[in-house]
Amino acid sequence: MMLLMILLGWFAITGVLLVFYAWRGIVAAWREPVLSRPVLIIESDDWGAGPVEQAAAIRQISRLLEKFADRDRRRPVMTLGMVLAAADGEKTLSSGDYHRQEISTRTHGPLLEAIKSGVEAGVFSIQLHGMEHYWPPALLLASKTDKAVMDWLGGAPQLPAEELPSPLQSRWVDASILPSRRLNANAVQQAAQEEVNTFQQIFGTVPRVAVPPTFIWTEDVENAWAGAGVAAVVTSGSRFETRDESGRPAGQGRAIYNGQFGENNIVYLVRDEYFEPSLGHTAIQALGGLSAKTRLGRPTLYETHRFNFLGSEAKKNKTLEELERLLSMAVKQYPDLAFLSSIKLATILKTRDPAWLDLWSRRRVHVWISRLGELPRLRKLGWLTGWIVPAGLLWRLTR
Ligand SMILES: [Zn+2]
Repeated sequence: MMLLMILLGWFAITGVLLVFYAWRGIVAAWREPVLSRPVLIIESDDWGAGPVEQAAAIRQISRLLEKFADRDRRRPVMTLGMVLAAADGEKTLSSGDYHRQEISTRTHGPLLEAIKSGVEAGVFSIQLHGMEHYWPPALLLASKTDKAVMDWLGGAPQLPAEELPSPLQSRWVDASILPSRRLNANAVQQAAQEEVNTFQQIFGTVPRVAVPPTFIWTEDVENAWAGAGVAAVVTSGSRFETRDESGRPAGQGRAIYNGQFGENNIVYLVRDEYFEPSLGHTAIQALGGLSAKTRLGRPTLYETHRFNFLGSEAKKNKTLEELERLLSMAVKQYPDLAFLSSIKLATILKTRDPAWLDLWSRRRVHVWISRLGELPRLRKLGWLTGWIVPAGLLWRLTR
């Protein structure tokens, strides 16, 4: 009896301590919706402004994706993060003021056509990446002192923005000097509204999903996007707000979970599985990511970029082969796998759709405990205090 009292007392005291130390993580793990099926989405950024060879690449990807379907006959979706413009280098350099060239049927006819037919076939979903993949005044300022930036401007708008120095590729900070400076809120508001309008002019629809370039953005940006009609923001699991002295993303906020709400009801998605075959990522590794995410009731959003699909034949083929391998293994291993677009997923999460989520079930408790086990500090404390034993028991009982 005495022993039982001591044991109960111990668990009560250490339980309070654990909750106190890891409250935020415990609550987030519970609040994050639990998907009842594996969900796979391929998110691909940087399409739009730049080289003409993109059109052929997009057609190839579309043909590949059209070979697959989930059990409900949905095609795998690749989201295309669109960049709508780049500098008109000639005009900019001769006048000294920034001039842009937006993509249009005149400059990018075959690309826009290929995207449109892929959207109609259900294999593409277009998202906003940015008007430019940089903040124009910062680029212009940097070009005055940085020869590489000046040369890039000379080749714009054909040169890919991927070739700019990394800090300058962030659209929502002024990285012409480091650490970067915060942008004026009015300028942000105007630029966000302008890019949404331009997106609508080009594609005939307001972007519902935005992907902040290099995952650096602020509350101002989010507010402006939300006001302009954006419903979801793709994140890497946190928000960076600046670039530090060495140009690295910094000012990282709290961890973000899938289905969490941001400014003005914007819903966040987390994209943190990386699939860049030209950098050596393989289908097998990607499949491991799908397995881990599914175990935790999370969707799998693969991050990839257009650079994998452009360039030498060998590089392009390697990328397409790995993508095909990933999809064929995924449908084989997960008969209940669902291919969704990011906006469809965002809507499911936002409305807490019972057709897709485990809302009140044993599995939700089971997944919650599994998620807690992934929090390093909590896991360690669980071992130290002995809480791992009752938690493990509950985990087994709810399996
Ligand atoms: Zn990008």
